Amino acid sequence: MTLPRSFRGPISTLLLAASTAAAQQAPTAAAPAPVRSAPLSNIRYEITFDSTTARQRLIKVMMSFDVGGSGPVLLSLPVWTPGAYEVSNFARWVVNFSALAAGKPARWDKLDYDTWRLQPAGARSAAIQFEYIADTLDNAMAWARPDFVLFNGTNLLPYPEGAGFDFPATVTIRTQPDWVVATAMKPAQARRSFQESNYHDLVDMPFFVGRMDYDSLQVAGRWTRLATYPRGAVPDTTRKRLWSEINKMIPAEAAVFRETPWNSYNVMLIFDPGFGGFSALEHQSSHVGIYNPGIIGNPLLASITAHEIFHAWNVKRLRPADMVPYDYRQAQPTPWLWVSEGITDYYADLALVRGGIVDSAQFMAQAADKANTVAMAPPTALEDASLSTWIHPEDGSGYIYYPKGSLAGLLLDVMIRDGSDNARSLDDVMRQLYQTTYKKGRGFNAADFWPEVSRAAGGRSFTDFDTRYVDGREAYPLDRILPLAGMRVVLDTLREPRLGIQSTADSNGIIVAGLVPGGPAQEAGVQVGDRLLALGDLSVLSPDFGLEFRSRFGQQEGAPLPIKVRRGTDTLTLKGRVRLAIRIQPRVEADPSASQKAVRIRNGILRGVVGK
Ligand SMILES: [Zn+2]
Repeated sequence: MTLPRSFRGPISTLLLAASTAAAQQAPTAAAPAPVRSAPLSNIRYEITFDSTTARQRLIKVMMSFDVGGSGPVLLSLPVWTPGAYEVSNFARWVVNFSALAAGKPARWDKLDYDTWRLQPAGARSAAIQFEYIADTLDNAMAWARPDFVLFNGTNLLPYPEGAGFDFPATVTIRTQPDWVVATAMKPAQARRSFQESNYHDLVDMPFFVGRMDYDSLQVAGRWTRLATYPRGAVPDTTRKRLWSEINKMIPAEAAVFRETPWNSYNVMLIFDPGFGGFSALEHQSSHVGIYNPGIIGNPLLASITAHEIFHAWNVKRLRPADMVPYDYRQAQPTPWLWVSEGITDYYADLALVRGGIVDSAQFMAQAADKANTVAMAPPTALEDASLSTWIHPEDGSGYIYYPKGSLAGLLLDVMIRDGSDNARSLDDVMRQLYQTTYKKGRGFNAADFWPEVSRAAGGRSFTDFDTRYVDGREAYPLDRILPLAGMRVVLDTLREPRLGIQSTADSNGIIVAGLVPGGPAQEAGVQVGDRLLALGDLSVLSPDFGLEFRSRFGQQEGAPLPIKVRRGTDTLTLKGRVRLAIRIQPRVEADPSASQKAVRIRNGILRGVVGK
């Protein structure tokens, strides 16, 4: 269900309620009884994806179950995949739906746009079948190639309405004998069968099925698996390096919580040349990354991998109360994504430096980069950005809770260490919240978070910090806080090339949304609506495009700059010229005049230790 139930009554009832006092009871009195399916048990899902369905980009789904009671069976598909904060309505991709009761065709219709109503007519066993169009390269969705498919349980596995999510189920995969099935779902007895004890876990285990590279290694005492598609996409040297990085980052992350929460962990990666940049989605014991192959060999891959793995603790287990339990029927906004995403990103940086994958200068450069991103976006409160992500705001603040939340993590860490004379850190806060909320079966809220921060900081109040920098939009006092950790902000003056466009991005690249009058793009004849393909020989789809563009053309005022665009069906190369503009950029560096205490705090952050 997508809409809150109280809005399901007839419109006239709602109008009456608003207009007369006597009718104010009406919505409650007239509200329909909660929608509830006949009780189901012995739920089995069978997923077929072989070379035949692959050619059609279809996945065949059959759901079989035993029916209790005499009412209709109501089955729904989720509207979203947890972690991908947008309403997707997976029922959109369902085709050729049919139903069986006791082996014979059964009557069915739709109760609403994502709920099917099946009349079992007294039958004790029933099933539904449908096909799912797997044509969306998105880690929350399903995507088929002639020899491969990615799918998520939220796409394919309907749940009985109103019956809660604590039901066990099995998933069986039918595929080519020589294709691989990669998932973190628990194996069941039969070959290529899997099982979970509840729906939350069932839909949190994405699958790769097909031809891929797939190997495993013991990391922190548990099996870790690496599945990459297409076969051969990751050269041996890169694969070895990624394994070595995973082997260093997981222990650094597990040290924060003092436990590794999974039995085994699956790193599942797709490399596709048509995909712009990168996108990754976390799960409790796996993650799916989709990347432009340009990321291979780029340090960004380790950073995203560390981010997604840290989510296994922060958000998949330690989670804002607003999202406990997950609600698959509707959007589930929370003002806390700056913790779930931003602080996760801070710990990705920490895992890399603590694991020895990057050095302290690279760690500080990462912080400066985030400060720079925040400075260029419109002033947006962390809480507001967290709530707004569901509607994908167009003002450039849509994902600002990542870098800005990450910096909030750094500032809180510094203040906690400063307040406790480096006896405690943000690690203690995360570990405590994990113990006092997740381990007690609940989510966290402000009454958990801020007192924990305050306690760790030796009793210091964070009300002012919350008001100004979390709920409020004030610029962070980096100049004042970072020196407490032996770091300082230096402003560099840069001359860098500018194209003079405003743009919007989708997974296929960059679309020109506006032109700076007299700017290089306008002079070259670029038009609004053009899709930007390349500048010189630099593809704009490369994950490091901005950096490459600046380093290639940064010293070349007036040099020729071929601008390749797609306009309608034409590909044009327009003749532009490099124009440099001045930009002031913050840089973070070690403070040579830091006090002994500040040096201890800096080392504590970089090494993941507390104390003298
Ligand atoms: Zn994330």
